[in-house]
Amino acid sequence: MPSLKGKSAIVTGSTSGIGLGVAEALAAEGADLVINGFGPADEIERERARLAKDYGVKVIYNGADMSKPDEISGLAAAAKQAFGKVDIVVNNAGIQHVSPIEEFPSQKWDAIIAINLSSAFHLIHDTFADMKSRKWGRIINIASAHALVASPFKSAYVAAKHGVLGLTKTVALEGAEFGVTCNAICPGYVLTPLVEKQIPDQAKARGISEEAVKRDVLLAAQPTKQFVTTAQLGAFAVFLCSEAAMQINGAALPVDGGWTAH
Ligand code: NAD
Repeated sequence: MPSLKGKSAIVTGSTSGIGLGVAEALAAEGADLVINGFGPADEIERERARLAKDYGVKVIYNGADMSKPDEISGLAAAAKQAFGKVDIVVNNAGIQHVSPIEEFPSQKWDAIIAINLSSAFHLIHDTFADMKSRKWGRIINIASAHALVASPFKSAYVAAKHGVLGLTKTVALEGAEFGVTCNAICPGYVLTPLVEKQIPDQAKARGISEEAVKRDVLLAAQPTKQFVTTAQLGAFAVFLCSEAAMQINGAALPVDGGWTAH
């Protein structure tokens, strides 16, 4: 029997990239899902229907903008209405902007802090009491290797991801006696649209070619010289939802090919 049958999960930013990989892995283990994120309506509906059909689970879509606390409350309420409870929250939605700090637009700073950090607080705020009262919950924050180390030109992202670790540790302590764990997965580079989009900006900021950015900037930091895959992150998220992972709590867990071992 799939290990997450009867559980329900919200995965934010799951119309693309890592979120979609994690959503798929949870569905494959039988979890019902709320998927979230932006994109063309027909493509999102195609993915929603595919996940439901391929894995025999219920999947609903909620288009909450994760920069807006009232829409995040609406997302939590929609999940509860559809499934009666929320067992698993994966805070994954995120954006990036790459620019030297003196040129970094303040509205980009605000948007990155809102989407990459504050949204996790708001969704946990809206689902935590129920998890505690049912004595089971799993909160997984998709942080980054940039929650542990910095790179130039990513001030807002690095600040937000370091903040996610602080939130993760606090929530872990508050949930510990109630069967609720909270951990941060810290991926290295994964070749998703988020990374593909920053390659031209990195090339401009550093004055090098896009190929050189991939080779000398992105994978230079990753000792395995390979991108992390969304399937690897999905499998790890499934493990964190297992009973075997009950004592993993408040941890920053790198999946980065050895990047942060430097
Ligand atoms: P992606 O661009 O492929 O996907 C981002 C998802 O977030 C999409 O579904 C998008 O629609 C959604 N999103 C963006 N803004 C939103 C908003 N305001 N409201 C709701 N949804 C919104 O990116 P990805 O690489 O899959 O990144 C997912 C997470 O993983 C991010 O938090 C990112 O920081 C983190 N991460 C990515 C990498 C990497 O190398 N790709 C590495 C470490 C951490």
